[in-house]
Amino acid sequence: MLTINVTPTLNAGWIAYFAPYSMERHHDLIARMAVRPGVTLSMLGETLDGQPLDCLSITDAETPARKLWLIARQHPGETMAEWWMEGLLERLTDPADALARKLRRQHVFHIVPNMNPDGSRRGHLRTNAVGTNLNREWQTPTLERSPEVYRVLEAMHRTGVDFCLDVHGDEALPHNFIAGFEGIPRSRTIS
Ligand SMILES: [Zn+2]
Repeated sequence: MLTINVTPTLNAGWIAYFAPYSMERHHDLIARMAVRPGVTLSMLGETLDGQPLDCLSITDAETPARKLWLIARQHPGETMAEWWMEGLLERLTDPADALARKLRRQHVFHIVPNMNPDGSRRGHLRTNAVGTNLNREWQTPTLERSPEVYRVLEAMHRTGVDFCLDVHGDEALPHNFIAGFEGIPRSRTIS
């Protein structure tokens, strides 16, 4: 049972399931990261509501050893996934962080902090503008139903992928865990 007690001080109120991560904050994050050294911002495509699908590519390497993809918030209500991305981006672009410097010198990171801007803006828990669960679209995405996945997959085919992390969140589990990409042809889990 979830119980919320509140004494309203205004005639309107909003109650969030998880700590909100607004599109305004998303745009602030993209703008802040895009000007940092070694970061390139690209728009992989447009969503059905006409919003940009932002991707930050980060590297200091001339010929990166590995192409690492990190995506989050396919389920837009899982706001903790984008809070996670904000922390990751802050550390990865920190010039004073020795581990981040080493990783940037060796590899390239392609990062999509929000895979589902339409669902985020509309306040959906699990779907995009037309009710598609993007996490179920990777086998056969379409521009009509799941342009977010279609465009990211297109970019992945262009760059190649050595590693991919797809960040989700859960309200019930008291711990963090990593699930492998079981069932995906030509994939293997790196431990
Ligand atoms: Zn999820």
